[in-house]
Amino acid sequence: METAKAIEKYAALYGVHTPADLHSAVSQAVMEEIAVKWRADQTAAEQGRRAYYLSAEFLMGRAVFNNLSNLQIVDEVRAAVERFGGKLEDMEEVPDMALGNGGLGRLAACFLDSAATLGKPLDGYGIRYQYGIFKQRFENGFQVEAADDWTAAGDPWSVRRYGERVVVTFGDMRVLAVPYDTPIIGYGAKTINTLRLWQAEPLDGFDFPAFDSGKYLKSTAGREAAERISSVLYPNDNTKAGKALRLRQEYFFTSASLQDILRRRKAAGKSPLMGDDVAVQLNDTHPVFAIPEYVRLLCAEGVAFEQAFAEAKKVFAYTNHTVMAEALEKWDVATVKKIVPALLPILNKIERALENELREKNVPLGRKAIVADKTVHMANLACYTAYAVNGVAKIHTEILKADTLSEWYALYPERFFNMTNGITQRRWLATANPKLAAFITERVGDGWLTDLKTLEGLEQHMGERDAAEFVAIKRANKQALADFIEQKEGVRLDPDFIFDIQIKRLHEYKRQLLNALAIVSTYQRLKDGELPDFKPTAYIFGAKSAPGYFRAKAVIKYINEIARKLNADPQTNDRLRVVFVSDYNVSYAEKLVAAGDVSEQISAAGTEASGTGNMKLMLNGAVTLGTYDGANIEIAEAAGEENNYIFGARVEELDAIRNTYEARKFYEADARLKAAVDTLIDGTFDDGGTGMFRELYDSLLKGASWHRPDQYFLFRDFDDYMRARLRVNADYGTPQFVRKCMMNTAHAGRFSSDRTIGEYCRDIWKI
Ligand SMILES: *Cc1c(COP(=O)(O)O)cnc(C)c1O
Repeated sequence: METAKAIEKYAALYGVHTPADLHSAVSQAVMEEIAVKWRADQTAAEQGRRAYYLSAEFLMGRAVFNNLSNLQIVDEVRAAVERFGGKLEDMEEVPDMALGNGGLGRLAACFLDSAATLGKPLDGYGIRYQYGIFKQRFENGFQVEAADDWTAAGDPWSVRRYGERVVVTFGDMRVLAVPYDTPIIGYGAKTINTLRLWQAEPLDGFDFPAFDSGKYLKSTAGREAAERISSVLYPNDNTKAGKALRLRQEYFFTSASLQDILRRRKAAGKSPLMGDDVAVQLNDTHPVFAIPEYVRLLCAEGVAFEQAFAEAKKVFAYTNHTVMAEALEKWDVATVKKIVPALLPILNKIERALENELREKNVPLGRKAIVADKTVHMANLACYTAYAVNGVAKIHTEILKADTLSEWYALYPERFFNMTNGITQRRWLATANPKLAAFITERVGDGWLTDLKTLEGLEQHMGERDAAEFVAIKRANKQALADFIEQKEGVRLDPDFIFDIQIKRLHEYKRQLLNALAIVSTYQRLKDGELPDFKPTAYIFGAKSAPGYFRAKAVIKYINEIARKLNADPQTNDRLRVVFVSDYNVSYAEKLVAAGDVSEQISAAGTEASGTGNMKLMLNGAVTLGTYDGANIEIAEAAGEENNYIFGARVEELDAIRNTYEARKFYEADARLKAAVDTLIDGTFDDGGTGMFRELYDSLLKGASWHRPDQYFLFRDFDDYMRARLRVNADYGTPQFVRKCMMNTAHAGRFSSDRTIGEYCRDIWKI
C-alpha cells in the first residue's frame, strides 16, 4: 500500500507518458520504501567479518521486475500501475544495465542476488561505464554495433554519493572516482546489500584560464581525458584488451575501492590491517591491481612492505575464469610505468619475495614470474598472493591444477578450491518463467525460492496430468517467444516446432559454427529425401561478437545467410527454421530460457570453464545437448546422463590427438561433413564479397599462423553431434522426453548461485 501511494506521487511528479516515466515512478517509489532498511543494513555489515566482490563487469540486466519480485510486491504494483492506465510490461522497454560481456559479468550479478538473499555481507565494486556492451543489429546479415547509452532516460536505481568520492592518481593525471550505489535487494528484503560503481570525473572540470584565452577545446580536454576512463566497457569476452585505457580502468576502480574500504574502516576506528575481518574476491585478473594497491596504501600509512604484503595475503582470493591463453592478462612494464608508476616498485618487491621464497624451497621460477621479460603477469601475481584460488566447475578446477596453474598447485595445493558456478533462481525461474514457477509452487511449495534443492520434490509429480501441464506451460512460453521474435526480428516461428537454442557469446571455442554446419547438413539430407521422420525444428541463436573478431563475425553472417535461404525454401521450411535474434542480452535470455526444449552446450571439451547458460535452460526444463565440458558434466551427473544428450570427444582424447590431428582426413572421409563445409566456398551462401566464408573454410582445413587446422575439433565431433541431434529429434514428443525435461528441472537445485555463495562463505570468506 505504501509503495502504491508513493508510485502515485512520483507519477504525478514525472508524468507517465513513456515507459521510462513509469519506470522512474515505480523505481523511485521502491527506493523510497527501502531507503531506511538499506542504510541500516549498510551500517550492520560494517560490524562483523565481511566480503567484497571486485569485478570489472556486472551484467545486471533490468532491476525493476526482479526487485518487485524479491520484495513480493508485484501484484500490488501491477494494480497501482493499472489504476492510471499503464501496464507493468510497458517497462520491458527500459534498457538493460548491461555493464558486462557475458558469463563472467552475469555471474557477478547472480552472486550479489544470492548473498543478499542469504543475508551475507557482500558488496560489489566495479565501474559505472557510461556505455555498456554495444547494441547489436544486423544489416544484410552482418553485425553492426551501436553505443549503449543506458542512462539516457535516467538511472533511478542508483544514488550518486558525491560526498564519498575519492581521488585516483595515475602517473600522468589525477581524477575523481565518484560512487553510484545500487541496492541489491535479497529475497523477502531481509538484507539489502550494495553495488558501488565508480564513475571517473575531472578533479577540476573546467580550465578557466584556457577558456578565457579562447582555447575552447583545450578548456575541456582534461574533462574528456578523465571521463574517458569510465566511458565504455571493452567489448571483448575471453580476450585481453592489452590497451592502456583498459589498464587505466582496472587501476581506477581497484584503487577507488581499496581507498573506500580503508576510509570506512578508519571512520569506524578500525585498523587498515584487515586480514582478520575482510575478504576481497577478485573476479578474474581484471581487479588484480588491487593487490599492489593495497600494499601501497598500507605502506603510505607507515606499514613496512613485508607486513603489508603479509596482510594482502590474508585478504585476497582469486577466481580463474578461463584456460584460454589469449585471455590471460599481461601488461608491458613500460605501460605500467607510465600509467601507474607508484605500483612498479611494489610489483618488483613482490617479485623478489617470490624469488626468495622459491630459492628457500629449492623450486625453480619456471613460468611463475610476476615481473619478467618486461612484462607483468597478472595471473601469477594473483596466484602468489591470494590465499584461495578457485576454478568455476569441477573439470575446470582439475585443468587448472593439472595444466594452466599446475606450477602454483604444486607449490600451494591447499589454496585450490572448486566453486562450481550457479545462477539465481529468483531471476531465472521466478521472474523469467512465472508459469513454471507457479506449477512448481503448487506442487512442492515455494521453498525453492530460497532452497532450490526442494525442486527434487517434483519427482513425485511427474504423472500424466503433471506432464501435460508442464508441456502446456512450455508451449505457452514458446508461443510468447515466437510472438516476441516476430515483432522484433520479423521472423515467424511455429511453437509446435522443437525450439533448439544456442545463446552465448560468439566464440570459436563455443562452436556455433558446428551447429551451423549440422543445420546445413540436415537441410541437405532433407532435400535429398532422407530423414523422413525428422520433426520440425527451429534453431535459435543469440550472440554478440567482439567487434574486432573477424571469424566470429563471419559465423554470424554465415548463420544469417543459412536462415535466409532455409526459411525461404518451401521444400523444407515446414521442418527447418533458423533465426539469429538480435541484441542478445539478459532480458532476451529471460524469454529464451523459458521457451527452450533443447540447450546447445557444444564447446570443445576442456575449453568452456563452466557455462551458466546451460544451468538457466536446465532449470527451465530443457535437455542439454552438450559435450563433456564445464558444468555440462555436473548437469548430466545431477539430472542423470540418460536424461541429457552428451556426445563427442572428452578432454583426455582431445589432449591425446591434439598434436597429430588431421582435420582434412575427417573432411575427406565423411561425405556429409564435406558437403556441409563446402557450402562455405561453393557459392551456396554469399558473404557479400568479404572473403570471410573462405577464411572460415581455411581456418578449418589449413589453419593459420597462430593455430592448427580446426583447432576446436569440429570435424572430430561432427558425426557424434549429428547422431545425438537425431536422437533428440526422435525422442521429442514422447512421454519419456517430457520426463527428461522434468528431471532436469527437478535436479537443477545444485546450480543455484545460493549454493555457490554458501560455499564461498564457508570455505573461502569464512563469513
Ligand atoms: C547467462 C548469460 C551468459 C553466459 O552464457 P554461457 O552460455 O554460459 O556462455 C551470457 N550472456 C547473457 C546475456 C547471459 O544471460
